[in-house]
Amino acid sequence: MTDIDNLKNDLLERVAASTSPAEVLRAPELKALYAEIPKQEPAERRAYGQRVNELKLAVEAAVADRENKLSEKTLPPIDVTAPFDMNAAQPALLPAGKGSTHPLMREMHTIEDILYRMGFMVEDSREIDDQYHMFETLNFPKGHPARDDYDTFMTVETDKDGEPLIAPAHTSTMQNRTLLKYKNNLEKDEPIAVVVPDRVFRNEDLDARHEHTFHQFEGMYVGKNINVGMLIATLQTFLQEYYGKELQVRTNPFYFPFTEPSFEIALSCPFCEGNNKDCKVCSGEGWIELLGCGMIHPNVLKAAGIDPNEYTGFAWGCGIERLVMMKYQIEDIRHFESAKLDFLRQF
Ligand SMILES: [Zn+2]
Repeated sequence: MTDIDNLKNDLLERVAASTSPAEVLRAPELKALYAEIPKQEPAERRAYGQRVNELKLAVEAAVADRENKLSEKTLPPIDVTAPFDMNAAQPALLPAGKGSTHPLMREMHTIEDILYRMGFMVEDSREIDDQYHMFETLNFPKGHPARDDYDTFMTVETDKDGEPLIAPAHTSTMQNRTLLKYKNNLEKDEPIAVVVPDRVFRNEDLDARHEHTFHQFEGMYVGKNINVGMLIATLQTFLQEYYGKELQVRTNPFYFPFTEPSFEIALSCPFCEGNNKDCKVCSGEGWIELLGCGMIHPNVLKAAGIDPNEYTGFAWGCGIERLVMMKYQIEDIRHFESAKLDFLRQF
């Protein structure tokens, strides 16, 4: 007759050593043990059956325990949020040190940071817009000849007036929306002070200074008694902060339909300060034409429901590539969109 205690110890040892412990439950010795139950004397059969059953339960518990231990050893805890299969081979991750922020994006953050510190809110533009925001709200009525200066890309889809949608040729498309959004500031005796940096598009012949896709940032400031002196001081402060040195600005009269009076701002050359006839950045002139600006035209304020007799404001639009090219003496605007690694790795 089988010694139940010996068999139990033997089976438990086998479970503890096995990598597939459930097999022990199918051991022939166990089957033989079950077969012995009906052969017992009727008086002992019940007690014998109980001991066999206890053995079976002990082995089953040991098997479950062993299986838990084995699964802990071979499988890492599953992170259900991981963007890859945890049970697959380790993914080859790119080291963070191999990439860098594109120089334009980095400079845009710097520009936003300076203007935010000067009290401007930052708003996003959009990359498809309608002609109402591109022209009408900016005092370019239909048929206005200055519309031709903003030749850009169009879609086959049309807006509610049946005009093609456009890829904005300047960030000024956001002026009307921004004035409407922040109009309540004026009632609280606070100015509207917003900057809109984003991507713009032109149908251009490409060369070292012209790209079909580039970036601008629009600035707007509206309140009571705002004048040209504040416009020039604001831009000078911004430019000095951006280039990290004292600079002079010069205004030339210009024409934009959406500002009156309008100016072009030239900046004293941050590199030669007018002292180098061979300076490549300013071509030896000492001044660099930089951006367009002016006092917001009364019709633009009216289009947003702002009374031009009560409030005045200024606005500017500045090409970001131009600022960055001057800062780092980059000679060709096409480098930015070229994806050339030997250019990008310099930043
Ligand atoms: Zn210079």
